[in-house]
Amino acid sequence: MVEMCAIASGSNGNCYYVGNEQDAILVDVGIFRKQVLLRMAGARLDIHKVRAIFISHEHSDHMRGVRVLAKQFNIPVYMTSSTFQHTWKSSRPGNYRLFEPGKPVQINSITVHPFIKKHDAADPCSFRIEVDTHHIGVMTDIGEACDNVKTHFSLCDAAFLESNYDDDLLLKGPYPWPLKKRVASEVGHLSNQQSAELVEQHMKNDLQLLILSHLSGENNTPELVLETFNGLAHKTNIHLADRHAATAVFTLDKT
Ligand SMILES: [Zn+2]
Ligand SMILES: [Zn+2]
Repeated sequence: MVEMCAIASGSNGNCYYVGNEQDAILVDVGIFRKQVLLRMAGARLDIHKVRAIFISHEHSDHMRGVRVLAKQFNIPVYMTSSTFQHTWKSSRPGNYRLFEPGKPVQINSITVHPFIKKHDAADPCSFRIEVDTHHIGVMTDIGEACDNVKTHFSLCDAAFLESNYDDDLLLKGPYPWPLKKRVASEVGHLSNQQSAELVEQHMKNDLQLLILSHLSGENNTPELVLETFNGLAHKTNIHLADRHAATAVFTLDKT
């Protein structure tokens, strides 16, 4: 049985859990250690099963708690060398290991496929995680869906997928103009519309589960996201990640 949970998701912090009975990994630790542990305990997820932490990029909403959490439980932290170089020295994890985008990394029973996507970071990566017979995408912080994103998403039977902003709310909202431009740019974030297009055009036929993630607090609402995806993928369970709490733990059965 494969388990997935968004422990945190949004520009205020990201942390995603994927695991089976024996092993688990975290993608990003963008909230503080204490919150990760509280939320994992609440969801009955065992930190001692976490064999590795993968970092998608150096923005603080993806790395804030990683150094301290990894140190306490002696968990290796995987990142690219460029991400490591661009991380503040005080935030760099002690026990780090390097991965190269395009080269799979084996973590016990889990295979992680890291790939480059478009975002305004040094070496922005997303991941397709192969566990038991499933392929799970962890895909947030994407300016626009490049070929890598389309290809890896099309192989997934479950995914955390960014649905960051509504075009109108962003345009009319409180952000200063340069920040609006940055969010909407090809190295910013995926809008609800862009995310829905990716799903419509590239989803696997038997996509089981979609957890729409990294919702903006100012430029989006859960209702608008659901409205955009309504009727898009009839056979797919669609859920939203919460900006302030862990989601339920979703399970995928062995196929
Ligand atoms: Zn982010
Ligand atoms: Zn980012």
